[in-house]
Amino acid sequence: MASVLDFSLLELQSGLLKNLDSLGYQAMTPIQALSLPLILAGKDVIGQGKTGSGKTAAFGLGLLQKLDVKAFRVQSIVLCPTRELADQVANEIRKLARAVHNIKVLTLCGGAPFGPQIGSLEHGAHIVVGTPGRIEEHLRKRTLKLDYVDSLVLDEADRMLDMGFQDAIDAIIEKIPSNRQTLLFSATYPSEIAEIAQRVMKNPVVVSAPSTHEESTIKQYFYQVHSDDERMNALRLLLAKHKPDSTLVFCNTKRDAQEVADELIYYGFYALAIHGDLDQRERDQALIRFANKSISVLVATDVAARGLDINALDLVINFNVAHDPEVHVHRIGRTGRAGRSGMAATFYSDKETRKLEQLTIDISADELPDEALLDRPIKKPSMTTLKIDGGKKQKLRPGDIVGGLTGKDGIPGDKIGKIVVASHWSYVAVESSLVKVALKKIQNDQLKGKTFRVRILS
Ligand code: ADP
Ligand code: MG
Repeated sequence: MASVLDFSLLELQSGLLKNLDSLGYQAMTPIQALSLPLILAGKDVIGQGKTGSGKTAAFGLGLLQKLDVKAFRVQSIVLCPTRELADQVANEIRKLARAVHNIKVLTLCGGAPFGPQIGSLEHGAHIVVGTPGRIEEHLRKRTLKLDYVDSLVLDEADRMLDMGFQDAIDAIIEKIPSNRQTLLFSATYPSEIAEIAQRVMKNPVVVSAPSTHEESTIKQYFYQVHSDDERMNALRLLLAKHKPDSTLVFCNTKRDAQEVADELIYYGFYALAIHGDLDQRERDQALIRFANKSISVLVATDVAARGLDINALDLVINFNVAHDPEVHVHRIGRTGRAGRSGMAATFYSDKETRKLEQLTIDISADELPDEALLDRPIKKPSMTTLKIDGGKKQKLRPGDIVGGLTGKDGIPGDKIGKIVVASHWSYVAVESSLVKVALKKIQNDQLKGKTFRVRILS
């Protein structure tokens, strides 16, 4: 019996359809069922679905369906954040294309020598899958032409933007005819995605696969404290109990923010303060290190926290009750985004009960975790930030940094986190367990033929 999830309901070439069967793809995944009809109809589509939801086949079938195999020139381009992901995507497309003769899928990624890539390009390809940095370089060297491209895919777009590929992506898109179809896939849907979609897509239709989690919810807890010491103690206890990767602690004054951060650091937490008394560079670095998970606690004033763009925080703590209910709602709204459940804790003293009552929510005093937790070792952040003494002024780009870190004796691309290239510096997060390898790789090899000073930001 046919179900709405049958691939056979799609107007797919029979070869592609038969091959799906032999791959054991019995039914469309939800993101495929939602996006494929639109993709095959030639629409620009933004697809949101979590990892493993089958996004590659969704756009892969779209590209293959409209490909003119006899015209041996690049017709589709897929941009991916890392070499590993580009390889995965290329392999999935090759699998899907098995039934169609002579389709050539070429990967172009950093960390590999140019020569062979140029050779392959001279032999021709239908579909190019690669990382933005390397593809942009091929365009500059004029070894790749995109004049006949009619499909562009931005895969894992959120991660590409995290890795600082915005400029490279823009440069590539400029070289692609505007009467193309543009497909964008992303696990999350932060505001930068909406912004890029608005610039490079035509009336995109947004489809998101229903996530299996229930609606995002924020669970609020309230803890009564009687002194500053108790406040600090409560903070340490919650951090020790939940061991969150990212906690934002709100204070009402700059002085409190600094003092709380200093005390957390004294107790061994990976924390930083952010407030208006710090200079721009200190503020930028704190935000970068928090956003890339190389510190786990950021202690902030409301004003300073505005610069923070993070999808979902594990925990928000009101070290003091906000002066205004609206501010409170704003603070706690930073947790539990993107379908995840969130947690917010508020400390209050007798003096603050009035402010608390204005929040017009059920307030029950919760009990703090057991004091014995304070003796447990403190969890180290999963990522470490490296600071490279070179940035836009030195013509360093995110792709150069990815290329410099990966490849022989380097680290895998999926161990690289956020990359920020500032005017004179760059910051890159790498998985903490690989930081020594990463440091050595950048120190021994050069970035774009130049040696840059690099150190761990701490
Ligand atoms: P995503 O990009 O959304 O993270 P992938 O495209 O990598 O997910 O797909 C995850 C896995 O699911 C892959 O191994 C792929 O081969 C498989 N897959 C995709 N679509 C189907 C389907 N309709 N039926 C069965 N397996 C599928
Ligand atoms: Mg994918």
